[in-house]
Amino acid sequence: MNIETPVLIVGGGPVGLALALELGWRGAACLLVEALDRDGYKTHPRANLVNSRTMEFCRRWGIAGRVKEAGTPPGYPHTAMYVTSLRGHLIARIDRPQHGGGRQIAFTPEPPQRCNQIWFDPVLRERAEGFSNVRLRYRWRFDSFVQDAESVTSSVTDTTTGESHTIRSAYLAACCGGRSPIRRILGVDKNEGEVLGAPLSIYFRAENLWDYHDKGKGVLHFIVGPAGVWATLNSLNGGDLWRVTLHGGAKEHAPAKAVDHKSILTRIVGVDFPYELIAISPWVRRKLVTAAYRHGRVFLAGDCAHQNTPTGGYGMNTGMGDAVDLGWKLAAALAGWAGPGFLDSYDAERRPVALRNVEEATRNFHMRSFAPIPELVEAAPAGEAARKRLGDEIVKRTGRELLSDGIALGYRYDGSPIVCPDGSEPPPVSVTEYVQTSFPGARAPHVRLADGRSTLDLFGKAYVMLRLSRDTPEAASFEEAARRRGAPFEVATIDEPAVVSAYEKKLVLVRPDGHVAWRGDSLPADADAVVARATGALPN
Ligand SMILES: Cc1cc2nc3c(=O)[nH]c(=O)nc-3n(C[C@H](O)[C@H](O)[C@H](O)COP(=O)(O)OP(=O)(O)OC[C@H]3O[C@@H](n4cnc5c(N)ncnc54)[C@H](O)[C@@H]3O)c2cc1C
Repeated sequence: MNIETPVLIVGGGPVGLALALELGWRGAACLLVEALDRDGYKTHPRANLVNSRTMEFCRRWGIAGRVKEAGTPPGYPHTAMYVTSLRGHLIARIDRPQHGGGRQIAFTPEPPQRCNQIWFDPVLRERAEGFSNVRLRYRWRFDSFVQDAESVTSSVTDTTTGESHTIRSAYLAACCGGRSPIRRILGVDKNEGEVLGAPLSIYFRAENLWDYHDKGKGVLHFIVGPAGVWATLNSLNGGDLWRVTLHGGAKEHAPAKAVDHKSILTRIVGVDFPYELIAISPWVRRKLVTAAYRHGRVFLAGDCAHQNTPTGGYGMNTGMGDAVDLGWKLAAALAGWAGPGFLDSYDAERRPVALRNVEEATRNFHMRSFAPIPELVEAAPAGEAARKRLGDEIVKRTGRELLSDGIALGYRYDGSPIVCPDGSEPPPVSVTEYVQTSFPGARAPHVRLADGRSTLDLFGKAYVMLRLSRDTPEAASFEEAARRRGAPFEVATIDEPAVVSAYEKKLVLVRPDGHVAWRGDSLPADADAVVARATGALPN
């Protein structure tokens, strides 16, 4: 069969699904092919943390409520603990009252949630499938592609029927994960990045595990031995589903079938307890940021473009940012108003975010090792003193892995070719702290409006010029420039003191993805030049 589609997406993991959703939401048609069946990776529950920025995307797509319902119940504590075992010694405890449920946080309408991919991916899928212009095909394996100046031609096999299909598209989005066939065809990343370890996940069901110890409920338990953290125990649903990750290298683990899960789980809890084993999955901890996100008409996103150790929960969340950035840009190119430099800005904006996040995740991983402490599991007083010292050190070293609002929300597109710098000093960036700013390239600030909405709810389908007081000049010159270029444009006049203060300037132009394109206290001499830059019409 010969098939035509504006965008072919390869891979139906969270990033491919989010890209399909973003395109569908913007009225752009696409076809997604996924080699696996609809259940995908259901026996290997991977990402748990859905950070605030991803939740803000979900809010825009109308699925934030469903993600909250599908994940850890609102009242379940997001506490992290370092313990020698659940019944053993507590070394450090980090409560995160600002995580989960519908809590109020000053700088976002959407606090971070825990919703494992085994539930999160289907929520994305269902929403994407709801758009008549989005087609999802499972058990369709992408095999190869060739591209020329006008299009990409891909070969795909329907593995249920054995039929081959030729798909012609304007663009090809590679969202096919770490073992990407598209990277192989492009001839990039032949060694698939640096290997940091080869852990093993043990997925199991156990009722009321917290009844077996005295530490209370939590979502993350780092199991510490005299030589450092050797395992983590994750609550997947705040109930009966759990995942243990055994750290270490491949040589330290038996093949999945031979793993003595009973003695491992007993050692982690500190006592024998009833459980049902669901699956054991080996995986590889990699560090990679590919050299270029764009190859002609082919774009790399998600794990296909970058991989990191899950220490910090950045992988999927970084990929969701890619999907949104690529999605609105491809939709603009298909709608015909993107200038010639527009699609190149995808690499310029997203690659630096990945470089930062991958480095930070690697740092987090190394911070979990420390010099052997033989007396760690001893009784008082020697053991107690060692545990206290280590606990203080752990909070200092690894606290930022667990509270990383600066990573989630604070990434900026400072050097982007489609952002207009205003010459002001860039505000500092931090891993843990997120300070809202309207600095060009930053995510536009969230402020609760008098009518109960968030300022973020104003953004999405168009460039929005915020006029932050009634005596601010009309933005007619911008409107005219956008209209001439065919770019969607709206004006919102807001005269609420909290918004005026958070947005720092009297006029702020926010892009459809919610990042600031330009700001000023008065109209620029040449509004057309600003719009030209924001829409990629100026040479890079
Ligand atoms: C134990 C663990 C815990 C994690 N925890 C977190 C966390 O808390 N937070 C976080 O943000 N990230 C976390 N991650 C990382 C996260 O799982 C990944 O970053 C995320 O799944 C990447 O999504 P993706 O869509 O890019 O790739 P994938 O999820 O790998 O999806 C790629 C898809 O492409 C398909 N595909 C591949 N080849 C083809 C082909 N030839 N034809 C058609 N389809 C193809 C695959 O079948 C697959 O379904 C964790 C990872 C692990 C292993």
